[in-house]
Amino acid sequence: MHQFLPYAWFGGCCVPFHESTISVATHALHYGTGAFGGMRALPNPTDPSEILLFRADRHVRRLSQSARLLLTDLSEITIFNAIVALLKANRPSSPAYLRPFLYTSDLGIAPRLHDIETDFLIYGIELGDYLSPDGVNCRISSWTRQEDRSLPLRGKISGAYITSSLAKTEAVKSGFDEALLMNSRGKLSEASGMNLFLVRDNVLITPGVDQDILEGITRSSVIELAKSMGLTIVERPIDKTELFIADEVFLTGTAAKITPVRRVESTTLRTERPIMSQLKERLTAITEGRDPSYEHWVTRIRLD
Ligand code: PMP
Repeated sequence: MHQFLPYAWFGGCCVPFHESTISVATHALHYGTGAFGGMRALPNPTDPSEILLFRADRHVRRLSQSARLLLTDLSEITIFNAIVALLKANRPSSPAYLRPFLYTSDLGIAPRLHDIETDFLIYGIELGDYLSPDGVNCRISSWTRQEDRSLPLRGKISGAYITSSLAKTEAVKSGFDEALLMNSRGKLSEASGMNLFLVRDNVLITPGVDQDILEGITRSSVIELAKSMGLTIVERPIDKTELFIADEVFLTGTAAKITPVRRVESTTLRTERPIMSQLKERLTAITEGRDPSYEHWVTRIRLD
């Protein structure tokens, strides 16, 4: 069980976490008609009265866009103000993960997105490492990543996570840590909640945004960083067999940060990962507010 932050944002204000409860009839609970975000809130290692948010503008925008994909409105400023209020109420002293959630709060049945009430909440948990920083063993999932023509994949839509859940459990029950999903065209897309990168001959390769991936914020940050470091980066369809001959394979995500892949199916990958290590070091410095050249990626929230 997670350690929850003491207050949640619920019904438009901060309330004790255990009082933030919803009805058994909540529409989104039955139909998966919600959209969520996931962002890290890091107490500044050198000043605990300050919280650092990595690319808060991007996270807030993606959730607002996810709301639009669910045919409702949730403004960026509404999301941001709620996050700030919640951080001030909770004053987290260790790394936290915030989960803002927009959902159909209506109590009526029938799958639909018109003539329906929606609501917005946020809760937080304490979160250190989501995956082992030493690396994960991955299997290729028997489940296929959905297609954008059946589900709006550019949003973090709750219902979509049934596929991630099936894939993750299949992987864990068969002795692996994580799942890599192919798309319906037989190319690699992403993991259950992370984007995928490979390194081959010093070139960084990742599936493009047309490969049924979530447009990850860590992914686009890694791409930008890699370019600034002079690395060659290619976004293109990736075949399964490329995984087995890659020099480095790693996953990116807000929760997973940059996590190396140790093994894919029965193939053990190299333990030297010079490119991933450089990127990870840079990204860690940025998220901890130690890189002045990327200060624009960090939002500092004063608690006093
Ligand atoms: N893919 C999926 C399916 C995810 O849920 C996530 C986590 N948000 C990611 C990729 C990584 O995205 P981000 O870097 O924005 O956290």
